[in-house]
Amino acid sequence: MSEEWKGFTTRLLHERYQPEAATGALTLPIFQTSTFVFENPEQGAARFGGTEEGYMYSRLGNPTVDALAERIAILENGEMGVAFGSGMAAISHVMMGLVKKGDHIIASDALYGCTFAFFQSILAERFGVCVSFVDTSDMQKVMDSLRPETTVLYLETPANPTMKLSDIRALAQLVKPHNVKIVVDNTFMSPYLQRPLELGADVVVHSATKYISGHGDVVGGLAVGSKELMTSIKKSFLKDIGGVMGPFDAFLLLRGLKTLTVRMDKHCANAMKVAEFLRDHPAVERVLYPGLPDFPQYELAKQQMNGFGGTLSFEVKGGVEKGRRVMNSVRLCQLAVSLGDVHTLIQHPASMTHAVIPREERLQVGITDGLIRLSVGIEDVDDILQDLDGALSK
Ligand SMILES: *Cc1c(COP(=O)(O)O)cnc(C)c1O
Repeated sequence: MSEEWKGFTTRLLHERYQPEAATGALTLPIFQTSTFVFENPEQGAARFGGTEEGYMYSRLGNPTVDALAERIAILENGEMGVAFGSGMAAISHVMMGLVKKGDHIIASDALYGCTFAFFQSILAERFGVCVSFVDTSDMQKVMDSLRPETTVLYLETPANPTMKLSDIRALAQLVKPHNVKIVVDNTFMSPYLQRPLELGADVVVHSATKYISGHGDVVGGLAVGSKELMTSIKKSFLKDIGGVMGPFDAFLLLRGLKTLTVRMDKHCANAMKVAEFLRDHPAVERVLYPGLPDFPQYELAKQQMNGFGGTLSFEVKGGVEKGRRVMNSVRLCQLAVSLGDVHTLIQHPASMTHAVIPREERLQVGITDGLIRLSVGIEDVDDILQDLDGALSK
């Protein structure tokens, strides 16, 4: 398919998409194989030597997995994508490819719990990398944290679960002159709603488990960046550490990706209605959703994102006890971590996804004991509202 089509969804479905060469199958087959046969020893040597393109062994590359990696690169407008066995594998392999002992990382202070743990307990405590957790929505604080040995600025925007935004374009302008690479976790937005590379980031990482899959049936990770950097991550870190994605998981993600835009539109529309409903509900203390005009960074959200996403957090009046009662009383919303599923999922960050972060640090960044995170699904929104209303009124 030629590349004359400009619409995001058309490109998602068609750009560089071709029926499978051998059979004409419209949908790419699952190349469920660990190894690939060489025609002769010279060919095997040429492939390992890098003088001939082609497959060798599925930890080094697999056609179904590579097709997914190419698709995410198209959507994020980057040169090259790489797929990993989970979002954490993507984040850890990329970061290991970017930092070495003695380097300094500046990271958002509200982060996905396991990303925080990887930075703190593995990179900092075992591998001699310094990490500063900083409020990256505040340019001055980022500026003040810069050191000569700073090599990476790591952002999650919107941050999980406080929804706080970081201004990717402004931060890129700020740190680029200091030779700092920007990595953005784009899981909450998907490339449909936010494209960090276009705003100046160097690498985008995803937990593909969430909106990219959309169906709650696979764990996977993706990263996109320059050809040079991603090649080195794939041919060194992924090859030798080995957090690869399997072909069947890649197939599920390619399938999920096809409906990304229709799902995201519905997630966004439903989340907006749920946010407004919760904001006006007498039992709710506060709602954190970038699409509400009174959200502190509403203007930035409109500039940086093409939609406000499907995930929000809220706090009920009456603290943890009341929050627990709400989570016990919902009947449609499913009590489960993860997000981006077609089903509405409800969870409690302080005791679940962010339990690894010490309480003091959690409170400081706004992850209060009573905060509830809701990943709004694609059900009929009136049913979601009815379920929440019933639970809140108990
Ligand atoms: C879930 C998630 C991750 C980790 O991804 P896995 O696929 O579970 O390894 C990282 N970042 C964010 C923002 C997430 O929501």
